[in-house]
Amino acid sequence: MPDLIKVAKFGGTSMANAQAMQRCANIIADDPDKKVIVVSATSGTTNLLTQICESPIDSERLEHIQEIRDKHSVICAELKNSDSLTRQISEIIDTLEEMVIGAGIMNMQMRDEVLAFGERLSSLLFTEFLKEQSPEAQWVDAREVMKTDTLHGNAEPNIDAIAENAASKWLPLIKNHRLVTQGFIGSSDNGVTTTLGRGGSDYSAALFAEGLDADVLEIWTDVTAIYTTDPRIVDDAKPITEISFDEAAELSVFGAKVLHPATLKPAIRKQVRVYVGSSIRPDQPGTWIVKETKSNPVIRAISLRRNQTLLNVHSLDMLHRFGFLARLFETLAKYKISVDLVTTSEVSVSLTLDTDIQSDGKHRLTDKVLDELREFCDVKIEKGLSLIAVVGNNLHATAGLSGPVFGALENINVRLICHGASSHNLCFLVKEEQAEDVVKILHSKFITQKNS
Ligand code: ASP
Ligand code: MG
Repeated sequence: MPDLIKVAKFGGTSMANAQAMQRCANIIADDPDKKVIVVSATSGTTNLLTQICESPIDSERLEHIQEIRDKHSVICAELKNSDSLTRQISEIIDTLEEMVIGAGIMNMQMRDEVLAFGERLSSLLFTEFLKEQSPEAQWVDAREVMKTDTLHGNAEPNIDAIAENAASKWLPLIKNHRLVTQGFIGSSDNGVTTTLGRGGSDYSAALFAEGLDADVLEIWTDVTAIYTTDPRIVDDAKPITEISFDEAAELSVFGAKVLHPATLKPAIRKQVRVYVGSSIRPDQPGTWIVKETKSNPVIRAISLRRNQTLLNVHSLDMLHRFGFLARLFETLAKYKISVDLVTTSEVSVSLTLDTDIQSDGKHRLTDKVLDELREFCDVKIEKGLSLIAVVGNNLHATAGLSGPVFGALENINVRLICHGASSHNLCFLVKEEQAEDVVKILHSKFITQKNS
């Protein structure tokens, strides 16, 4: 067995073209411990495949397929020895074409089958680029290990089956090989292809790391690190060298979309250290996400999440009654609507939903859901809101924290505040157009000034 097992995941921008793939291959070749490589589709390909699924018009489908063909053959041509792979790639795309032309409207199962082509193609290409520098590279099919339920479009992984398969199928191989596999895709018990939801490759890599009992999970992306806030909003945002699992989990749910929100769950279960770095600037220090950090500042980062929908539910029946909240959440659960923040008063409840679009592209708050809610309460919806999350340590127990935070925002209308449920997060909603100013004010007061 190798001394260390590292699982390294490279996202779509890291797979964007031949040059990007070569850069990733260099990063891997330099480190014998990077044993399992998980890749996303080449950038933009999953979007093209989604468009193929959404438009039942064959001429449009053909156009998108042509785009996929061109993109992948351009990359393939940069390989030193590309003949057999060129043929293989073109055959795979022929299969895709046969599958979708004339297929009309697709069900979720077929969509997953189509979406999986992105990662299948990128992983085949990348294996060859890696082999040029690291001959022990070997392509493996993620679907043999990533077992899931049958909720197509957003499948739930089966952790025990993944661990069992990883141990029996991949552990023996990594003695002498580096495995290259696909993120995002899996298969159900009956072998039908499933997907983990958009952006799910990070989660795949984390599940593989858990299953293999890996030492490190590396997420190579297009940002050099997790920052104290979005550097596009605040010039002096600073890279974070080290952050705890708990803080990073809050950030991934409420803040910067650096990691898929589920990524840290498997890492936390198995205490796998996580490194986030840039495949474009691998020399720049990235962020380590670990169980315990050396420093634990009260405020580590300020993040902004746009496109929040606020659902206000009001009913006099709620007063001194039981079962109202249960009914509300049951209804939302029935339609698979996930709620982020909740506040309640005696006769009303406010909930936030992160956009009203699900990963399958369908609106969550359909008329059907709203009608069903209106059977037992009044419902109002507000849009155009952003969620600001203040992430750090001991936030619930730090005396005099909310005073200065909200004092700094005296001219801003704060819509809803959640504080106290987590010691690592204080969050609230503001109007979309004020959100960037809020981030600037808080970052300057609580992070820049504190550290200067
Ligand atoms: N290719 C998939 C997507 O674009 C999964 C991923 O990149 O993480 O959503
Ligand atoms: Mg991604």
